[in-house]
Amino acid sequence: MTQPVHSQLIYDLGAPGRRGVRFPELDVPKSGLPAGLEREDLPLPEVSELEVLRHFTRLSQLNHSILTGFYPLGSCTMKYNPVINEETARLPGFARSHPLQPAEMVQGNLAVMYYLQEWLAEIGGFAGVSLQPAAGAQGELAGVMMIRAYHQDRGDTQRNKILIPDSAHGTNPATSSMSGYRVVEIPSDERGNVDLDKLKAECDETLAGLMLTNPNTLGLFEEQVEEVIKAVHAAGGLVYGDGANMNALLGIARPGDLGFDVLHYNLHKTFTTPHGGGGPGSGPVGVAEHLVDFLPGPIVAVVEEGGEDEAPLFGWHTPAKTIGRLKAFHGQFGMHVRAFTYILTQGADGLRSVSEHAVLNANYLMAKLQKAYEVAYPRTCMHEFVLEGRWKDAEGVHALDISKRLMDFGFHPPTNYFPLIVRETLMIEPTETETKETLDAFVDAMLQIAKEAREEPETLTSAPHTTPFGRMDEVQAARQLVLCCEIPRQPAVVD
Ligand SMILES: *Cc1c(COP(=O)(O)O)cnc(C)c1O
Repeated sequence: MTQPVHSQLIYDLGAPGRRGVRFPELDVPKSGLPAGLEREDLPLPEVSELEVLRHFTRLSQLNHSILTGFYPLGSCTMKYNPVINEETARLPGFARSHPLQPAEMVQGNLAVMYYLQEWLAEIGGFAGVSLQPAAGAQGELAGVMMIRAYHQDRGDTQRNKILIPDSAHGTNPATSSMSGYRVVEIPSDERGNVDLDKLKAECDETLAGLMLTNPNTLGLFEEQVEEVIKAVHAAGGLVYGDGANMNALLGIARPGDLGFDVLHYNLHKTFTTPHGGGGPGSGPVGVAEHLVDFLPGPIVAVVEEGGEDEAPLFGWHTPAKTIGRLKAFHGQFGMHVRAFTYILTQGADGLRSVSEHAVLNANYLMAKLQKAYEVAYPRTCMHEFVLEGRWKDAEGVHALDISKRLMDFGFHPPTNYFPLIVRETLMIEPTETETKETLDAFVDAMLQIAKEAREEPETLTSAPHTTPFGRMDEVQAARQLVLCCEIPRQPAVVD
């Protein structure tokens, strides 16, 4: 039997002697590789250009993407990445510059980074920003390392614990323990807020800080955020803000004004740089005045003020007590150009409107779905909300089955089983760029699934039915990673 085309490997394609590229004639003397580096037996496929293009285009179609359908993956903010970002990032002056070029040759690049630092500081309410971190998690690491450096700088060395709410993203406890801190988990109260009494009980002289996500990963604004921050500050601790969820706050609330000392931004979430396979990520950190000297560097600074018709001169600046360098060269510069473009094209009003629509879309979906699903914390949500993916009268059906069935309707599943404090979690984040028609189609699918759960549960438990591959064994997939050559030749499940 011939293999279904989608499971063919590039190693199966081609034939000896086929060529996809032609090199120009040599115009320099030929020289070989150093002895020992040359191999005769490298089993590379010999394929035509058309075979290669078809192969990779086919592979790209096996995956769901934001360009093929709705992608409500809560907390990940899988929003549309405007095409103009790609155009600016490809301008030769940006794309072909080299990080070792002297500052005076790349003033345009430095200007982009400088204004992005300034704009992110303005958006978050902070005194300084470093663009170095390459992901949200690395921004967290930078933030917690700055908190540690701050305490050590003051000779305040007995502080050894970080508080983290039980709804937090897994990177928060990982970051804290990587930085040498003891993690103390703080439970949420019945409204989905940090339990203030439990928090206060931990606020003592051993407290280094709190890592807080606001809106939290239940999609809820911390109703007592100012009291929470005050309690931590009163004990001498600092407050880290996980800013991956800034999509609800742009132009509306500034974490710095609320009292956060440090926060990371996810350019690949809120600021429309590609996310997932399209990465790389970028997780700049913003800090209040008392942490500016600790920022990872170098960062871009004005070294000579400009005149009326004259641009300022930009250069590199390493903060006095910097925690050091986190990334080769200057961070993900291509992503800086994209985020800069996005902020510039939106303007202040546009950014506020982004957040207003993100919140409106989430509340619209929540209102429509609560007829058929239990909303975990039924109050006005921010950019996302959490449903329970289970029913008392459909015991055999789980959140995972709902997610798998959604794929048959062309929708990416919501986030499953996170945050951990809700049973059978479905965490839904529509983002601001979806039309009402798309949101309504998603609601229709979710309502039909709720009906199927009672009437024909096996349609859910055996889903998906229309995707190139059927239901995967996810545990096995995680334990036995097959990353290249031996993909099992499983035929598509056909109804
Ligand atoms: C995505 C996310 C992170 C981590 O960001 P990465 O760029 O994936 O490292 C941290 N916290 C929250 C709440 C997130 O949603």
